[in-house]
Amino acid sequence: MSPKHPICTKTFTLNNDQEIPAVGLGTWLGSTSPSPSQATELHASLLKALSNGYHLIDTAQYYGIESIIGSAILASGIPRSEITVVTKFWGEWHHDPASALEKSLSSLGLGYIDIFLMHWPNAIRVEKDGSETNLGIDESPTFLETWKVMEGLVGPRCRGIGVSNFTQKTLQALIDGGAKILPCVNQVELHAFNPNLKLVPWSKQRGIHTMSWSTLGGFYPGVENEIFTHSLFKSIAAAHDCAVSVVSLSWAVQRGITIIPKSNLDARVAENIRLVDLSEDEMEKMNNAHKTIKQIHLVDWITAILGKRADGTQLVMGWTKEDFGWEDKEGNWLP
Ligand code: NAP
Repeated sequence: MSPKHPICTKTFTLNNDQEIPAVGLGTWLGSTSPSPSQATELHASLLKALSNGYHLIDTAQYYGIESIIGSAILASGIPRSEITVVTKFWGEWHHDPASALEKSLSSLGLGYIDIFLMHWPNAIRVEKDGSETNLGIDESPTFLETWKVMEGLVGPRCRGIGVSNFTQKTLQALIDGGAKILPCVNQVELHAFNPNLKLVPWSKQRGIHTMSWSTLGGFYPGVENEIFTHSLFKSIAAAHDCAVSVVSLSWAVQRGITIIPKSNLDARVAENIRLVDLSEDEMEKMNNAHKTIKQIHLVDWITAILGKRADGTQLVMGWTKEDFGWEDKEGNWLP
């Protein structure tokens, strides 16, 4: 961390007038049931982050840590009103988001949630024997049906509602389906190799704020994370006397996107909130990295949620990439 670079205090205003910090802390520990030592470590690192300028925490029911998030926020001594808490519910709750909200409220123990997200557009049906079935895009509850129930949750205990892993296609389906409230946030995979150059301005025009996950390329076994090693990012970092992680994070925030980098290490947490101003030329080079270096969809490496049809078509929790709106019929990437 270079003390030359100040803590980023930038905020964005959402379509429901909520103010959201540009930089928050991600909390996915890579497992749905973290070990006691991971939980202790997370609690300590949350306290450190909160005392070092982070006012936004991103979590999810799926991460199995909402209670740790809640207890760390309470222990921090920072007024609740100064912290934005984002959490998400998983596909098994699409038939009943009101109960999902109660579950998060109870686990977090913070009185209210700032932003409650539908984690993925896909629904899951839990069968009588406990097994799970991924539902197809047109099967009930569809994401539109779920969204319409979510609209009724907005109030003092759920200040804002949003979505995650939506595209122009699925967002447009909400609009065409008569949504009365548009998502205040859409949280998507976004980094230099999957920059979502069209989705971000398209969403902004409609008042939907983009939040980026895996802005640092995440940690996916089998994927070389060139965001830390490629000469493009290293040379921009050298020019600004900042850590290489800061290049990707600054680029996203400069595009009007909220970032939620995750680290267990205090030094990195401190580094990831000290952003720099990139020049137009540097922004352009970053915007083109998906063409000049490589294009990658990290979802392809999240093996726990992948499947295949008999004909070999790749499925992500039962949906094709065309269903999501990531690709067209011919398999061309839709940015
Ligand atoms: P990320 O923040 O892009 O990257 C995290 C990885 O980068 C970790 O391995 C971390 O290691 C390392 N790292 C962080 N800061 C660093 C630095 N300054 N220098 C070097 N390495 C650094 O990836 P992510 O955790 O996948 O995404 C961020 C957050 O987005 C998640 O935590 C979660 O809250 C959210 N998310 C949402 C979805 C969704 O479907 N909505 C999906 C994935 C993630 P150490 O911890 O060892 O430092």
